[in-house]
Amino acid sequence: MFSIFKKRKPKADIDDPGMVDISTNSTTHTSDTTLDLADLGNKDSGPCRPILTEYKKIKFGTQQRSFRSQWYNECDWLEYSVQRNAAFCFVCRTFGSENSGENIWIKSGFNNWQKFLVKSKKHSSTSTHLTNLCYLNSCY
Ligand SMILES: [Zn+2]
Repeated sequence: MFSIFKKRKPKADIDDPGMVDISTNSTTHTSDTTLDLADLGNKDSGPCRPILTEYKKIKFGTQQRSFRSQWYNECDWLEYSVQRNAAFCFVCRTFGSENSGENIWIKSGFNNWQKFLVKSKKHSSTSTHLTNLCYLNSCY
């Protein structure tokens, strides 16, 4: 009689670039967005800012770009999800409402690394972000 040993299945390849949803027209989908943001921070833990020697690269035409940990210094609200290879706004994600027009920083994640500095500056001056920042400051 043989006992059946289950072979360990190889883990799913999390390097699959298909995981990153860079489309911006996914606002009709709301049910699947509670998703895999488990690796981000919350009110108790504060923003999640993993510092890696190398972040996953995304192709932009012929160039490859990736997240940079030095951007944490530029934006104190910045969070990075390793799972999604995307940046989020801790302030808006924690204190904001869902349909603020800044969903890319709240739900889908920002990963247009080429335009990060421009877009992040823009986000930090939106009324949505500034309002949420007030909530944060009154909370801590
Ligand atoms: Zn924000």
